Amino acid sequence: MSEKSAFKKMFSKTDPGLEEKILIGLEQIGRAIAMLQDHESRAQNLSDLQMNVIVSLLEPHHARTIGGVAEELNLTPPTISDAVRVLEKKDILSKTRDPKDERVVRLDLTARGKSMARRLKEKQNPLLNLITHLAEEEKVSLLSLLIKLTKFFQDKGLVSVARLCVNCQYFHPNQYPGKEKPHHCGFVDSPFGEPELQIDCSKHQVLPASTDL
Ligand code: SF4
Repeated sequence: MSEKSAFKKMFSKTDPGLEEKILIGLEQIGRAIAMLQDHESRAQNLSDLQMNVIVSLLEPHHARTIGGVAEELNLTPPTISDAVRVLEKKDILSKTRDPKDERVVRLDLTARGKSMARRLKEKQNPLLNLITHLAEEEKVSLLSLLIKLTKFFQDKGLVSVARLCVNCQYFHPNQYPGKEKPHHCGFVDSPFGEPELQIDCSKHQVLPASTDL
C-alpha cells in the first residue's frame, strides 16, 4: 500500500476538506486574538465592544463620530452610543460639539483612554512577535491573502470600512510589470511593491468599484 493511499485511508472520513480547514484555521486565529483582547478588557473592567471603540479612536485617521465609529466596527449607532455613554462616564473619552455644525458630536480619547488603548496594542505584541518569525515571502503571501479576504468580505457587506490599496482611487496596479515595485500610488506619486501594499492607509480615498490585483 502506498504512503498516499494509507494517508487517504486514515483521513478520508475525518478530513473536512480544504475550504473547511481554512475556515478552522481562521477561527483559531480569531479566537487567539479575541483571547488576548478579552484578558485586557477584563483587566480594565470593560466590554470587548468598549475596548474596540477606544482602539479605533486611537488611530488618527479613523472616524470620530458615533455614526463613523459604528461604520468602522460594522455595528449600529445605538450600540456605539451605549458604549460611548459608559466610556464617557469612566473618563475614557470625551464628547465635544463641532463648532461648525452643532449637530455633530466629536469623540476623543482622554489621556486615560489613550494609555488604555496603547496597552491593548502592547498586549497584541506576542502575536506580532510570532508573525516576525515567518519568512519574508510567507509574510508577503499572508498580507496579500489577507487583503484579498478583506476585500472579498467587504464586497459581501461583512466589512464596512477597509482602507486597502486595492479599493483606493490612487492605486494603479501593475503599472510597471516585471519590476520589483510594480504598483504605483498616485497620492505620493511613487512606485511600490507587494510588501508595501496597505491594509489601513491614512491617505486612502475610496474607489467606487474596487480593483483586482
Ligand atoms: S493612498 Fe494609500 S491606499 Fe491609496 S494607493 Fe496610496 S498607499 Fe495605497
